[in-house]
Amino acid sequence: MQHNMESDRVMAATSSTGSDSQSMDQKTTAQWARVRARLRAEFGETAYRSWLKPLTLESLTGNTAQMTVPTRFMKNWIETQYKDRLLALWSNENAQVTNISISHSGSRQAKKTVVVEPSILSDKIDEERTPSAMELSAPLDDRFTFDRFVVGKPNELAFAAARRIGEGESVPFNPLFLFGGVGLGKTHLMHSIAWNIRQTSPEKKVLYLSAEKFMYQFIRALRYKDTMAFKEQFRSVDVLMIDDVQFIAGKDSTQEEFFHTFNALVDQNRQVIISADKSPAELDGIEERMKSRLGWGLVAEIHSTTYELRLGILQSKAEQLSIHIPAKVLEFLAHKITSNIRELEGALNRLVAYSSLVGRDVSLETAQEVLHDLLRANDRRITIEEIQKRVAEHYSIKLSEMHSARRSRAIARPRQVAMYLAKQLTSRSLPEIGRKFGGRDHTTVMHAVRKIDELRQSDSSFSEDVDLLRRMLEG
Ligand code: ADP
Ligand code: MG
Repeated sequence: MQHNMESDRVMAATSSTGSDSQSMDQKTTAQWARVRARLRAEFGETAYRSWLKPLTLESLTGNTAQMTVPTRFMKNWIETQYKDRLLALWSNENAQVTNISISHSGSRQAKKTVVVEPSILSDKIDEERTPSAMELSAPLDDRFTFDRFVVGKPNELAFAAARRIGEGESVPFNPLFLFGGVGLGKTHLMHSIAWNIRQTSPEKKVLYLSAEKFMYQFIRALRYKDTMAFKEQFRSVDVLMIDDVQFIAGKDSTQEEFFHTFNALVDQNRQVIISADKSPAELDGIEERMKSRLGWGLVAEIHSTTYELRLGILQSKAEQLSIHIPAKVLEFLAHKITSNIRELEGALNRLVAYSSLVGRDVSLETAQEVLHDLLRANDRRITIEEIQKRVAEHYSIKLSEMHSARRSRAIARPRQVAMYLAKQLTSRSLPEIGRKFGGRDHTTVMHAVRKIDELRQSDSSFSEDVDLLRRMLEG
C-alpha cells in the first residue's frame, strides 16, 4: 500500500524537477544523481527509500541547494538525521554548495513555483490509516533466499539457526540474535527465513522490518494517538524480525516500546529474530535490561569472511550470472576484496558489466584496471590496536601500558612510538588516537609525534628501529 503511494509521490515530485524558473542544467542533474547514489550506498536501501529518495532538488542558486520533501515530518527528520551528510556530499560534488535548504512541499506551494497535483504532495502519507501488520512488512528481496546463501565457517551457526526457524519448527531458542559487521549477510538470512515460512506455513504471520521503520511507525502512532492499533499489529504476529536494531540506540521511547513488544511476543512463544552490528552486551545506548533480554536466546555471530567463503560466494555468483570467469580472476578477487560480501558482489558485477559493455573477456588485467579504486581501498587497513600490540611486543612492555597513566621513560617512549605510527599508518585523527591511548588529549599525541620526529633525526639507530616496526606492520 504504502509502497504504491510512495512511488506516486516520487513520480509527482520528479515531474516537478526543472519546472522551476531556473531550470536545472545537466551538470547539476548529474551531480545530484551522484549525491543520491552515495546516500543510497551509505545509508542502505531501507533508509534511502523511506527518507532520501523522496527528496527533490528544486534549484541550485548561488551556494544553496534548495530541496523539498512531501511532508513536514520528513523535512524535520531529514534535517536531524541526514542533513550534515547531505551537505558534505554536495560540497564534494560541487565546492560552491555550502548551504542546504529543505522545505516541505506545503510551504513550496505557497510560493507558487510548482506545477504538481497538490493532493499528492499534501501530508497524505501521515494521514493514511494505520497499516495492517502485513502491509507494514518491508518488501523482501527475492535474491535473499537460503539456496543462494553460501555457508562457510564464519556464518555456519547463524545459517543453521536461521534455517531451523525457516523450516517452521519450533526451536529451543528465542530470540535469535544475529550480529556481525556490515555486508555479511544478516539481512539476507532474515529475508530467507521469511520466504521459507511463507512457503512452509502460509497461515503464519511474519513481520520483517528495519528498526528504523519500526521507529517511524511508532512515532507516527504516537502522533496520531493510535498506539493501541500499533501495539495490536505487532503483538498479533507469529514471527517478528527487526533488522539493524542498533538503530534505536539512544532513542528512549522507541526502545521502551520495542522492549514491551519484544517481551509480549517472547512470553507468548512467538519467534523473535533480531539483527545488529554488535553483540547484545556491546550495543551502546541500549538499556541494560534490554541487552540482557536480547541475549537470552541464541546469540549467533556472523564473523568476517575467510578466503574460502569469499571464493565460494564468487563461484556461486558467477554461476548465477551464467558467465564464465577464469578461476584466476575469482581467486584474485577473493584474495583482494576482504571488506565484506556486499563489496565483493559489487566488484564482480562491475567487472562483468564492464567486459560485456566493451566486449572484452574478463581477465586479471581487466580486473585490476576496472577495480582499481576498490582494490586500493581494500588494501590492508592497519588498526591502532595492532600497532599497540606490535610496539608493546617489540619493546617488551605490557599491552596495558599503552593505556596506562605511567610516565616513566621505559613505558612512555614506546607509547609515543605507537602514537607516532598510528598517525603515520592510519587515517585516524589526533583526538581519535588520543582516545585509544587511555583517553589522552590530542595535544599529547601531537607532542608524541613531534618528539619521535626529533629523535629520529638525531638518533639513526632509533630511526631504523621505528622503520623496522613500520615495515612489520605494513606486512
Ligand atoms: P548485512 O545485512 O549483514 O549488512 P546483507 O544481508 O545485506 O548484509 O548482505 C550483503 C550482500 O551480500 C547481499 O547482496 C547478500 O546477498 C550477499 N551475501 C551475504 N552473505 C552471503 C552468503 N553467505 N552467500 C551469498 N551471498 C551473501
Ligand atoms: Mg542489513
